[in-house]
Amino acid sequence: MTFALKRAEQTSVATTTSLPDVQEKVAAIIADIRARGDEAVREHSARFDKWEPEAFRLSRAQISEIMARVPEQVIADIEFVQQQVRGFAEKQLESMREIEVETLPGVHLGHKHIPVAAAGAYVPGGRYPLLASAHMTILTAKAAGVPRVIACTPPIRGEVPDATVAAMHLAGADEIYLLGGVQAVVSMALGTETIEPVDMLAGPGNAFVAEAKRQLYGEIGIDLFAGPTEVLVVADDSADPFVVAVDLLSQAEHGPDSPAVLITTSESLGREVIEHIDALLPEMPTRDNAEPAWRDHGEVHVVADLDEAYRMADTYASEHVQILTEQPREALQKMRNYGALFLGEGTCVSYGDKVIGTNHVLPTRGAARYTGGLWVGKYLKTVTYQEVTDPAASAHLGEVCGRAARVELFEGHARSGDVRAAKHGTADLPW
Ligand code: NAD
Repeated sequence: MTFALKRAEQTSVATTTSLPDVQEKVAAIIADIRARGDEAVREHSARFDKWEPEAFRLSRAQISEIMARVPEQVIADIEFVQQQVRGFAEKQLESMREIEVETLPGVHLGHKHIPVAAAGAYVPGGRYPLLASAHMTILTAKAAGVPRVIACTPPIRGEVPDATVAAMHLAGADEIYLLGGVQAVVSMALGTETIEPVDMLAGPGNAFVAEAKRQLYGEIGIDLFAGPTEVLVVADDSADPFVVAVDLLSQAEHGPDSPAVLITTSESLGREVIEHIDALLPEMPTRDNAEPAWRDHGEVHVVADLDEAYRMADTYASEHVQILTEQPREALQKMRNYGALFLGEGTCVSYGDKVIGTNHVLPTRGAARYTGGLWVGKYLKTVTYQEVTDPAASAHLGEVCGRAARVELFEGHARSGDVRAAKHGTADLPW
């Protein structure tokens, strides 16, 4: 029997898209920047971030000054993590084979992967300096071979986020702008008097950032809908309730709108996790986010067995799914909808977020039903080509094409087939 030990005011079961008031606010800002360019960007930056520098783009000299201010250990750690992210991205790239096959004698079909010419990376930072997002977006684009990668991050409470800028620079950003939110996303997507537009945008962000990318999709490409972070833990009675509690809170601290869900086969574990969270929350330095997140979006469900747990987890299609069971790898076979899986107690979502090397830009609000997270492949266009080197094959295809196109009432298409059937074969032109 399934029952809830704790319900959310608003469950995070796959819902996709943003709330209506967020959609309206974002549409108004996009329209304003579209109409007034840089002037509007400046006003929105002043309004939301109290940030109006002379120029949003950092000069080389400014970047050097910032790099000099960042402690050596922070630089060393950034470099270590970037090595992990780059290493995995390069292996993923290797797995993307280009193919050319002969499907009929003399008929050659192929596909190849071409990186987009210019990509924009959004590195969030309204609440915390999320420098790890610089590795995930900029570095991955560079690993994919994107020639121009520009990146935006907001100032943090009116200050330059030194470590984030260092990560953006070390990841290989060609242009760095201190600009946040919708105004940053729109500037990169549509261009302004001072920013050349890009072909594709990637990166996570709050609900406004994610919605801005969603509304601009079509005019430019986007990676995916990557909004406020979500975590879902599947645990059996072998799990350590303290570890489960700590791991749920590690994601709830992202923001007051971050869901944290536990699905367990053990009622006693569920109760212990709730007790630990209640004890941990008051002394948590980030409780301003974690407390409302857990209160309004925290859920604990008890289910009869693990198969039911996996089925229920699939309906959430959560961004992060952590498996704390005796046989964690079982989830690889049994689950379908997730952004990233964390198997066993040896790893955790924080490793994925910060250090281990898989990409942390992942689908939220149910988008994991139809996409995985950001990776090199997202920056590549898989395009096809064809060539027919045998006249007999061209003539045969021409005859079939003539008939197939006429079924669809496309006389023009049919004639392209007819001329080849006549020129390379023995058929007469029927017109
Ligand atoms: P952010 O950079 O995403 O957003 C900050 C910007 O939001 C500000 O610069 C401001 O311009 C804008 N803003 C704030 N209030 C606004 C309002 N009322 N109207 C319009 N614009 C407004 O930084 P953040 O807020 O700290 O959020 C980061 C988010 O990124 C978190 O929600 C986190 O969970 C999420 N995240 C998601 C993933 C993922 O892969 N899905 C990964 C990492 C982080």
